[in-house]
Amino acid sequence: MDANIVLLPGDGIGPEIIEQGQLVLEAVAKRFGHSFQFTSCPMGGNAIDSHGTPLPDETLAACRKADAILLGAVGGPKWDDPNAKTRPEAGLLSLRKELQLFANLRPIKPYKQLIDASPLKREIIEGTDILFLRELTGGIYFGDSGVKPHASGEEAYSMMVYNTEEVARIVRLAAKAAQLRSGRVTSVDKANVLEVSRLWRRVAAQVMADEFPDIQYDVVLVDAMAMHLISRPRDFDVVVTGNMFGDILTDEGSMLPGSLGMLPSASLGEAGPGLYEPIHGSAPDIASQGIANPLATILAAAMALHHSLGLTEEAAAIDAAVEAVLDAGHRTADIAAGGKCLSTEQMGAAVLAVLG
Ligand code: ATP
Ligand code: MG
Repeated sequence: MDANIVLLPGDGIGPEIIEQGQLVLEAVAKRFGHSFQFTSCPMGGNAIDSHGTPLPDETLAACRKADAILLGAVGGPKWDDPNAKTRPEAGLLSLRKELQLFANLRPIKPYKQLIDASPLKREIIEGTDILFLRELTGGIYFGDSGVKPHASGEEAYSMMVYNTEEVARIVRLAAKAAQLRSGRVTSVDKANVLEVSRLWRRVAAQVMADEFPDIQYDVVLVDAMAMHLISRPRDFDVVVTGNMFGDILTDEGSMLPGSLGMLPSASLGEAGPGLYEPIHGSAPDIASQGIANPLATILAAAMALHHSLGLTEEAAAIDAAVEAVLDAGHRTADIAAGGKCLSTEQMGAAVLAVLG
């Protein structure tokens, strides 16, 4: 297959980890007889420096034409001035909006080889395999908001708004994902209090009953879910929720595996390219030292093959290679627990050696 992959290395450790992601994709192309075309574009802080904007028009145009987009990370102290006209993160928000990437997928699957890196007990997390779907372009982050004078000082509001279509499309995606997994969907809301959650719950139930009668479906309140996630994470398969609840729950969930350096994510729309990235940030504290863990980015590349290119066998080969290097005891500093560690390049090379 021919595929056009846009690389957005970004800032901080971004370029270091994207380099390893690209090498892995090249190795997969060679092994399975594909031809991947790579285009690297400025985005984030580096793009502010070179183009005066975090998302240059050329970058957006290249992304629109891509089959998949692999992003490192954006931002850093250099661009943190609160009075700045624009910020690196604004580029990412615009890109998601322009490409209508409404679903954020985050697998939470602690590696058995790294279970001691988790703050939770082995018997609680062992066997956990959750796929979170967070709605990304609606909800309270995008509803009407404002501040007005009030007798006590000021009053502010942020509205949580969802419509039928927004709920239906993400629930549909969750159900389709569940068909390829254990066949269970849990929808998380706050329907005992919020009107918007009651709509969410009605629409979700309807979509599941009409279109996915074979998928096991249940609902959990967000406050209870926050507890279940660390008391019985093994009981969940696909979890679908709105923008803010998903933001909070996925950060909580990211602690199960213990290290940010192992977690990929995908942002998908109805059509067009998906955006794939590690969940961690640009890690300015370790940038340019060659010690960042490239595995989250390599796993994000595998998600790109799976979700945007439909190359499931190739994606599985990358996942298996990551398992194999962990089995062999290879660790970067963030997952080493004091043991011997590899550099970013050495870890990438270990994965390449398995891929052959
Ligand atoms: P952002 O605001 O961009 O999300 P952040 O301040 O939340 O950034 P990260 O950049 O994700 O944080 O980094 C948090 C901590 O995790 C830092 O100490 C960083 O060095 C470490 N870290 C993040 N990613 C990696 C990685 N791939 N390998 C090793 N350590 C990492
Ligand atoms: Mg952060």
